[in-house]
Amino acid sequence: MLPNMAYADLKDSYLFRRIDEKTNNYLKKHPGAHLYRMGIGDVSLPLCDAVIKAMHEAVEDQSHRDTFHGYMPECGAPFLRERILVDYLSRGINISYEEVFVSSGASDELGDILDLFDKSNTALIMEPAYPAYVDANIMSGRKMIRLPSGSENGFLPVPPKKEKADIIYICSPNNPTGAVFTKELLSMWVDYANENGSVIIFDAAYEAFIEDPALPRSIFEIEGSKTCAIEICSLSKTAGFTGTRLGYTVIPKSLVRENMSLNKMWVRNRTTKTNGVSYIIQKGGCAVFTPEGKRQLKENISYYKRNAKILMEALNKAGMIFFGGRNAPYIWLKCPWEMDSWEYFDYLLETHQIVGTPGSGFGECGKAYFRLSSFGTYEDTSEAAKRFIT
Ligand code: PLP
Repeated sequence: MLPNMAYADLKDSYLFRRIDEKTNNYLKKHPGAHLYRMGIGDVSLPLCDAVIKAMHEAVEDQSHRDTFHGYMPECGAPFLRERILVDYLSRGINISYEEVFVSSGASDELGDILDLFDKSNTALIMEPAYPAYVDANIMSGRKMIRLPSGSENGFLPVPPKKEKADIIYICSPNNPTGAVFTKELLSMWVDYANENGSVIIFDAAYEAFIEDPALPRSIFEIEGSKTCAIEICSLSKTAGFTGTRLGYTVIPKSLVRENMSLNKMWVRNRTTKTNGVSYIIQKGGCAVFTPEGKRQLKENISYYKRNAKILMEALNKAGMIFFGGRNAPYIWLKCPWEMDSWEYFDYLLETHQIVGTPGSGFGECGKAYFRLSSFGTYEDTSEAAKRFIT
């Protein structure tokens, strides 16, 4: 047996292991110290009442013979696919029922979706990037083009002039930089993809944080995108489903390469590789798209936005340079005093008991930056903010 030797090319999950090691060492030296964890990508608020109520009702359904549900349809329960569809339509995005797929979350999809592409394809990763894009492509033995970005372009790169990529990852709002692509910029990428026959994988995990109506929440707001894009969405950050697991993916029927419909291929993939997402979870997911669910979730998002605002105000007072935080849950901070991101990590931990995420974990061009998250509690965030000023 020959294992997948591509795994030998993977780097250890060095970033989070090193953060844990450093944090644990600090706690050993300072037992009982309280740490302000501004690095977390997980949410701190529980599921909203509307979701909990729907899940309780679904549990009850499962206890009666006439309302019990066994295996769920592989591409998603009709009741949830319809709700997601209506939500898109209400935003003026014209897609059809068969183009919506329910998933167990964006991470699963980002890995599985690569089944649709030949191994010989080249993937373009805009850095700094969510590390899963790189790792999933290494695992499947694909070549990658790394496209670095920086403060000069607001961490929003334009398509390369000469290089041709087959698969293009776009994450907007971006993790880790918090940068959001404008319609004009996305149009440039859509044109590039259509001209080169590439496919964009649009990661919209943080779309719910966009409040500026001029900024696109979906790639399908861009003309021409239906012949070149797949959109991967998640309810993790929108609705606190990080531990409950639910997301959705849109693959247009007009996305065709070499006479193969990627939508049909995905139906074939799902009906082979999944048995659907749990009935109870999908019922909970339905509540996210009701008027009451939306109202409650808006409150949760406002809670995180208030955290981001408190942090940004403190950073402004401290005269620090940062990006993101406005239409995104992440703040991307330039490390002060010419420190690199690990030096700054140590400084914040030792001096202020703040734990963040060093930018070097998201690619070489992130090494002078630091990611702060607004997903913590209000109490911890306000205290951490004060410590940035002192
Ligand atoms: N995409 C991005 C950019 C993320 O930051 C995350 C999680 O942090 C995910 C996808 C994964 O989301 P999910 O919880 O739905 O797997």
